[in-house]
Amino acid sequence: MDSIPQALQQLIGAFSRLPGIGRKTATRLAFHILKADRTEAEQLARALMRVKTEIRQCSICFNITESDPCAICRDPNRDRSMICVVEDAQNILLIERTNEYRGLYHVLGGVISPLDGVGPEDLHIKELLERLQGVKEVILALNPSTEGEATAIYLARLIKPMGIKITRLARGVPLGSSLEFVDELTLGKALQSRSEL
Ligand SMILES: [Zn+2]
Repeated sequence: MDSIPQALQQLIGAFSRLPGIGRKTATRLAFHILKADRTEAEQLARALMRVKTEIRQCSICFNITESDPCAICRDPNRDRSMICVVEDAQNILLIERTNEYRGLYHVLGGVISPLDGVGPEDLHIKELLERLQGVKEVILALNPSTEGEATAIYLARLIKPMGIKITRLARGVPLGSSLEFVDELTLGKALQSRSEL
């Protein structure tokens, strides 16, 4: 490693900390940037900074957005009687791509996980309960992990007594997997044939 200039080592280090990128790919990416022309490198640097400075959370649903409230919360054509609860803002993109859903969303910011020290108070659960006025159905689109299941049951216990229908994605989503790895068609079907909890 000593023969590699420090600036390059630093870039390799930064890339290898990204999810799904090993040392080998990180090295290839760093060399690509090194050989690329200056504009390409500048564009990448600017794009990195822009997501950190211009993107924030929607104060209603905690989706990522450039303007608050987000485009979905502002859209008058969305069905306000339905809220789809997801773990991450990334999951909203996946569900939107299925074209099967026209309601609103709520990002929890994770799931209850006592082992990782995440309790209900660390998630946007209070904010969800505060926006349930006029809502007829809450769809729990959490990852089918043990923690996702436990969180779904916890939420159902809080929301059901309010007379709101609670549904969850059908079992088309493989157990233990993450929504991220489910194709649009499967996710769309799972949404259509959701079942009451
Ligand atoms: Zn929003």
